[in-house]
Amino acid sequence: MAGERVNLLGLPRAELEAFVAARLGAKPFRARQLMKWIYRRGAADFSSMTDLSQDFRSQLSEVARIAVPEIVAEQVSSDGTRKWMLRMDEVQGIETVYIPEPDRGTLCISSQVGCAMDCSFCSTAQQGFNRNLSVAEIVGQVWLAHRELAEARITNIVFMGMGEPLANYRNVVPAMRTFLDDLGYDLSRRRVTLSTSGLVPQIYKLAEECNVALAVSLHAPNDELRNELVPINRKHPIGELLAACWHYIDAQNGRSVTFEYVMLDGVNDKPEHARQLARLLKGRPAKLNLIPFNAFPGTRYRRSSAAAILKFRDILNDHGVIATIRRTRGDDIDAACGQLAGRVTDRTLVRLGTRLTSTSRAPAEIR
Ligand code: SAH
Repeated sequence: MAGERVNLLGLPRAELEAFVAARLGAKPFRARQLMKWIYRRGAADFSSMTDLSQDFRSQLSEVARIAVPEIVAEQVSSDGTRKWMLRMDEVQGIETVYIPEPDRGTLCISSQVGCAMDCSFCSTAQQGFNRNLSVAEIVGQVWLAHRELAEARITNIVFMGMGEPLANYRNVVPAMRTFLDDLGYDLSRRRVTLSTSGLVPQIYKLAEECNVALAVSLHAPNDELRNELVPINRKHPIGELLAACWHYIDAQNGRSVTFEYVMLDGVNDKPEHARQLARLLKGRPAKLNLIPFNAFPGTRYRRSSAAAILKFRDILNDHGVIATIRRTRGDDIDAACGQLAGRVTDRTLVRLGTRLTSTSRAPAEIR
């Protein structure tokens, strides 16, 4: 039956080898051939895989399939940034963004439909959480972007779209293995970045299991303020979070953790905040990435002034902490950091601390 066919998209190499051996009695090199077809040539149809025997192809199509998400809308920004809305099932949608730069092309992917972390300045949080994406749905975003972009190259993948990747550890880690695999997307570990709001136990676990670049959404230099902006901080405060980060770098021989810091006017952008931050990060394997806040309907925050952002950066640099300002891309199509909305229905609005359920609200429109 069609429904029982295994989706091969995103199966890590070892699992694909085990699958072809168990289900088709085939040697491991068949799995490698399949991976080349699926990822390098973007094949989604076994019949196009001409170096596999007819027999093998027809056996394959009985037990397996290559199912990719469907694109429901595409928008292109005046700066070349592209955003795709992808259908995940009958009612749910997520967004994926491609950001071209002269020296690289970054794909920003989602890991969940909605998000449960409830960060107060993020548009995804307003939608609540629906579910984790499967491995195929995560890898499928890259597969589709590859197909759509034709000439343009994806040189970097960042988990900075919708969702908290470490809350979907089980599916995010196998997806990352395919990004790193030389028969998958063949990216170096410095070019795959996992961004987290700070799930400490999973940072320790990741340190043992998968070698990728780590970005952490810090956003505040003290627990009082961070509790308000990033509520997971009440469970895993800054001290614990930073200890996990330094462990991660040690365990993986990494260069540095990138700390993301959204610049909110009058909230976390004062010189004193910069000095507190410098005290936390000085002498550590850390870089700061200052993100000018991107507004969305209903938000109570405003972006810090350009002058405040520059001054904040200068204070950090003067204190010996490397800080850069992230250029805003794609904001004319709501594709900038924190603006991804997707389509989340039947959501369970899981708030940390309190738990509300809502299934009756109208779905957000596809923009
Ligand atoms: N859940 C993960 C990844 C998703 S968000 C995480 O928290 O890291 C990617 C980055 O965009 C995070 O640093 C997030 O805090 C930031 N962000 C969220 N909303 C934003 C907004 N409105 N403006 C600017 N950056 C925002």
